[in-house]
Amino acid sequence: MGVIEKNKKDILYYEIEGFNFDKKMKHIFSTRVGWEQDKLFNNLSELLNIPEENIYRAKQVHGTDVLIIRDQDNIKVSLQEKDGLITNKKNVAICTYHADCVPIYFYDKTKEVIALAHAGWKGTLNNINKTIIENMNEKFNCNIEDISVAIGPSIGSCCYEIGHDVEMLFKDKYPNYLDIIINRDNKIYLDLWKVNRINLINLGIKDRNIFEGKFCTSCNIDKLYSYRGENGTKNRMIAAITLNQ
Ligand SMILES: [Zn+2]
Repeated sequence: MGVIEKNKKDILYYEIEGFNFDKKMKHIFSTRVGWEQDKLFNNLSELLNIPEENIYRAKQVHGTDVLIIRDQDNIKVSLQEKDGLITNKKNVAICTYHADCVPIYFYDKTKEVIALAHAGWKGTLNNINKTIIENMNEKFNCNIEDISVAIGPSIGSCCYEIGHDVEMLFKDKYPNYLDIIINRDNKIYLDLWKVNRINLINLGIKDRNIFEGKFCTSCNIDKLYSYRGENGTKNRMIAAITLNQ
C-alpha cells in the first residue's frame, strides 16, 4: 500500500495504489509541484480531461453534510457548506481541498457511483464516512460489498499531535481501540488513518476494498503542503475523482 507518483508536463500528482483498478474511474491528489494556487482547476481540467465548469466542490466546514449530484441534476457548481460529495454523473469531477485533513475516495464499480470526503479530526470523529455510505445506499442503491475506498495523503500519526481534550473525545467514542492514540515523548498523537479505517470496517466495507496512501503531508513538505508543518499555510492540495463516459 502507498501512493504512486505521477508526472504530466511537470505537474506532479499522486494516485493511491490499488484504488486505480478500473479505467472508468480516475482519482488524483495534487501536490505543490506544478500546481499554482490560482491554477488548481485549470490543471485538474487538463489532467482529467473535464471542462473546468464541470468540477464540483463545496465550502468545507468540518461537518458531515454531503452534496448529492444525480445524473439528471443540473446543479450549478456552487459553494454550499458540505464536506462530502457524491455523484453518478459522467464527465464531471468532484473535488475537495486539503492541507493535512484526510481525503477519502469512494467508488462503486457496479452502480458507477463516486464520492469524496474531507475528514479532519471532527469529520473523522463524527464519521462523515457514515453519511457518504448511507447516501450511496439510499440514493443510488449501492451495495456495501461493491464499494471500494481509498484513504489519501494527510497528516500521519508520526506528526499529528493533539491536545488532551481531543484525546478524550476519541477515547470516549472508541474505547475498544486504544492504538488510535499514541503517546510519545510526553506528547499525544492521533492516527486519523486508523480511525477512518475502523469507521469504514464498522460500516461494512470489506477490508480488501480499503486502500491506504499512508503518506504524511507534514513529513513530505517538499511535495505537499501541510497546515501543521508550515505554520498554518493557506495553500491547499485538491483531491478529485471522476467517472468517464
Ligand atoms: Zn509525518
